[in-house]
Amino acid sequence: MNDCLFCKIIKGEIPCHKVYEDNLTFAFLDIGPVSKGHTLIVPKQHADIMQAGSLDDALAIMTTTYQIAPAILKALGATGYNLGMNHGEDAGQDVFHTHLHFMPRYEGDARTFIKQKPSQEELAQVAQLIRQEL
Ligand code: 5GP
Ligand code: ZN
Repeated sequence: MNDCLFCKIIKGEIPCHKVYEDNLTFAFLDIGPVSKGHTLIVPKQHADIMQAGSLDDALAIMTTTYQIAPAILKALGATGYNLGMNHGEDAGQDVFHTHLHFMPRYEGDARTFIKQKPSQEELAQVAQLIRQEL
């Protein structure tokens, strides 16, 4: 578990662009966003996949999503969003710490899932805009 990337991010051992944090959950920008503001919402307690963790943690990531969604939309001018979770290698999971993808969508959005490579400055600016709405 000490080798878990997201656990290290939660503990502050690896930098991230944090959006939100509470007792049970942590939310930060995806480093390879498919859309501007692509956010990962994770339980603080490590679990490889959702059902390996507690039901409380599974519900908590949706509670956080419910709470921060309006701020992300407002901050970035998004008009919709996709939610996604990958569970298991065959489903495309790369990081084995439960996470929910929040992918904002915009008017005229091509709605692709192609990862982009924004600069650290761009990500920092997006995270700041979101935090200002929370
Ligand atoms: P998965 O494929 O496991 O559902 O998604 C893992 C996500 O984590 C990917 O979208 C990927 O871009 C993101 N990711 C991988 N490494 C890092 C990192 O070091 N920092 C951040 N913020 N996101 C990461
Ligand atoms: Zn972890």
